[in-house]
Amino acid sequence: MSALPPGSTIGILGGGQLGRMLAVAAAQLGYRCHIYAPEAVSVAAEVAAEWTRGSYDDIAALRAFAASVDVVTYEFENIHHAPLVALSEEAIVRPSVQALEIAQDREAEKSFVGALGGRTAPWASVGNREELDAAIAAIGTPAILKTRRLGYDGKGQARIMKADEASPAWTAIAGQPAILEGFVRFDREFSVILARAVDGEIHYWDCPDNVHEHGILALSTVPAGPIVAAQAEEARTLAAKVAEALDYVGVLTLEFFAGKDGPVFNEMAPRVHNSGHWTIEGAITSQFENHIRAICGLPLGDTRLAAAKVEMRNLIGDEVEDAGKILADPSNHLHLYGKGEGRPGRKMGHVTRLFL
Ligand code: AMP
Repeated sequence: MSALPPGSTIGILGGGQLGRMLAVAAAQLGYRCHIYAPEAVSVAAEVAAEWTRGSYDDIAALRAFAASVDVVTYEFENIHHAPLVALSEEAIVRPSVQALEIAQDREAEKSFVGALGGRTAPWASVGNREELDAAIAAIGTPAILKTRRLGYDGKGQARIMKADEASPAWTAIAGQPAILEGFVRFDREFSVILARAVDGEIHYWDCPDNVHEHGILALSTVPAGPIVAAQAEEARTLAAKVAEALDYVGVLTLEFFAGKDGPVFNEMAPRVHNSGHWTIEGAITSQFENHIRAICGLPLGDTRLAAAKVEMRNLIGDEVEDAGKILADPSNHLHLYGKGEGRPGRKMGHVTRLFL
């Protein structure tokens, strides 16, 4: 396919802040966006040309949406197989449905990345209560029980410090299909964020050092310190193998633990990622712009740093009330997602600070 001409419409599945920032980047390049999301209020739809409110299982509505746009992409991953097949029958879906199906299932993701030579935490599949006991016997404790699907920001997870905590952990995840992962002793967490164009060209951003609080990303810093810098190349090589194996088009994120065992793969997201929000001001071309460029068949932009150091802090819950103070410092860039009430654990915005 040749590049989509300006004025074409990009369909985005998902109505949150990632869709909002994608739609802003698309508008800059002359494209229109059509958001598909189930919520009554969509912060992405507020900045897009069109919006369909529909459920992710409404195959007829998804077909009509896909047929009305020039390419479909997504910012939300938990969509079932049949609706995805329907979408791909009506439109080009980028990144591919295969990438999304692997990334939405922790077991498929770990198997796929392991088969490509990636190092993961020791893990075992847990389909029922007996298999949890067998997994604990095989992996030991401490360990983390994670639902295969629908987990994000530390949700759908239970820590098991001793074998006798198996029952409460199983109850905590409501007995859903899961994996048990051995605890990784790591020094730092980081991500590889890359964009792959239709012609296979790959551009990487600097690997951000990521700090999580209560399972939610709190802070990303680039350039990362020496521990991450020493392991970034190996992690990038693995990420490139994943992208190539999937003939991936768009932005792809892989999260890693850095420590004495080398980079340990944790999970992947077939999309733009919170740990890449710093790229809006902190890189020559942002993750959002390069995702749009990639899925529209355009050449990618330069991903190098635009400052000596960049820090991105999430504004979670009532932290958003400090927004006024943040702007008192002229090197801060404030992004608010327009979500209204700052409920606990909710990502309300972020602030990026450039150190020139
Ligand atoms: P996840 O939803 O898999 O990204 O997990 C959320 C956070 O929990 C990660 O960013 C880590 O800080 C921590 N975590 C997840 N898995 C492990 C593990 N196997 N060992 C140690 N910490 C982990």
